Amino acid sequence: MKRRTLLYAGMGAAAVAPYPIWRYYSGNQSSLASINAVSILGGEVLLDAFALAALAKSIKGYLLFSGSEGYEIARQVRNRTIDKYPALVAQCASAVDVIEVVNFANHYQLLTAVKCGGHNIAGNGTCEGGLLIDLSLMQGVAVDPERRMASVLGGSLLAELDEKSQAHGLVTTAGTVSHTGVGGLTLGGGFGRLARRFGLTSDNLLAADIVTSDGELRRASVDENPDLYWALRGGGGNFGVVTSFDFQLHPMDRQVIGGEIYYPYEKAKEVISFYAEYCQDMPDDLYVDLVIFAPPFGLKSALYLDVCYSGHPKDAARVLEPLRRFVKPLKDEIRPVDYVALQKSSDDSDPRGTGQHLKSGFVKTISKALVDTLIENLESNMLRGSMAFFQQAGGAIREIATSATAFPHREISHNLTIGAVWPSGLDPEPHAAWADSYWNKVKGFTDGFYTNDAYGVDPVQVQTNYLTNLDRLVDVKSKYDPANLFRINSNIRPRPQA
Ligand SMILES: Cc1cc2nc3c(=O)[nH]c(=O)nc-3n(C[C@H](O)[C@H](O)[C@H](O)COP(=O)(O)OP(=O)(O)OC[C@H]3O[C@@H](n4cnc5c(N)ncnc54)[C@H](O)[C@@H]3O)c2cc1C
Repeated sequence: MKRRTLLYAGMGAAAVAPYPIWRYYSGNQSSLASINAVSILGGEVLLDAFALAALAKSIKGYLLFSGSEGYEIARQVRNRTIDKYPALVAQCASAVDVIEVVNFANHYQLLTAVKCGGHNIAGNGTCEGGLLIDLSLMQGVAVDPERRMASVLGGSLLAELDEKSQAHGLVTTAGTVSHTGVGGLTLGGGFGRLARRFGLTSDNLLAADIVTSDGELRRASVDENPDLYWALRGGGGNFGVVTSFDFQLHPMDRQVIGGEIYYPYEKAKEVISFYAEYCQDMPDDLYVDLVIFAPPFGLKSALYLDVCYSGHPKDAARVLEPLRRFVKPLKDEIRPVDYVALQKSSDDSDPRGTGQHLKSGFVKTISKALVDTLIENLESNMLRGSMAFFQQAGGAIREIATSATAFPHREISHNLTIGAVWPSGLDPEPHAAWADSYWNKVKGFTDGFYTNDAYGVDPVQVQTNYLTNLDRLVDVKSKYDPANLFRINSNIRPRPQA
């Protein structure tokens, strides 16, 4: 479907029972026209002007269409290769708005996407021709220092969670780029600088409020709807729109020891081999990622470890000493640093400024054969704007049983990402081809993948990647979203309805 403009009624639209506008509508609808939108099955659905006016009137937020102020920003996601035009965007301002919009989506069986931070590489935070539920107005974090708990609105970004928690000397696991959405990151798992110490972000989820496909606002916790609570911790956006998350917080000093330590690029093999060994026996309060990066704009290629040590400062020098010894670093920027600042150190100045093509998979160990394969293909293959990246796992992530939450990949040591990033406007083709070809060489060393990073993955593989938790997830999906309204995600297909 092409770029949306306001379309008038008619032309092959699917027959849908009228939306119950008498509940809301009292004004005149002259500013809204009927439009065609796409249904969950790919057909066309006519959304008449009265129904749209009723919806607009029923919410405190905004209904945006192509041409509306704010529509262009709202439709975009971080990955600029994704260029989709929803027929309408509902910018919800509250859980009540979300209920209204989900009822509307359900009534028309509209193709429905949900956006929080818009970081999802596959572009699951938008859709072509359907309805986008944009949660960007629903941001806010309230910390209860007594109970060591944070309540976080469903559209919040990680920066606010870190900032508000650390203001009380508290923290929970969050990802390493602060403009990532709390929503997508938590529902898929949530790796980060503190995950080895406190578990995944989802392991710290105490409760969530969620609007399910029937328009009900439900509480999911150990005591209420425990099946849903289990599924939300790793099952992605499959079960509805989460309007609020409650997280367990932990005391932690604001100052940690962290930053980047750079090595000569020519020493890549030595550095990765050392890293593989060093990671085998590391305290849980130490987190180290390895990044090989050939930046765009012709800047010099870099090879570095990104470190965060949140243990006792007096032990830092001893714990970090091997990083400084095994090879002479080019530049050592590891220092006492404010944790919140460290969490922002990899942010982009314009998070929507680049095209991206990333492939990733989990590894349980960085074997010698994997190191050899990475190196063999490194030099000749690194394009400007390409990277290979090991994000570290292990520690507390491993201490939780596979069946305890929906996230099943507990045994992994790292998430390996091969990616190409380029300034938007350039031809994506050579960059994507580079990433695919490098990925094809190393993917045999991976076992399973992070659902939040799934990009161009076959839908059957997406299902089987939930491993032994799949059946239970299908049960929960079938109960709360039997028609698969929420399908733009690492989708769990519900059982066929009787
Ligand atoms: C630069 C970068 C760095 C990253 N770093 C990390 C990292 O350190 N650790 C890590 O674990 N991951 C990381 N990721 C991956 C990240 O977890 C995913 O991109 C995740 O999907 C981002 O969530 P979002 O809310 O920003 O995305 P969106 O694109 O807004 O949403 C992603 C998915 O989540 C669903 N969703 C979002 N919010 C809600 C909600 N409130 N209710 C229901 N469904 C919702 C959406 O429908 C969609 O399916 C990173 C990604 C990028 C691009």
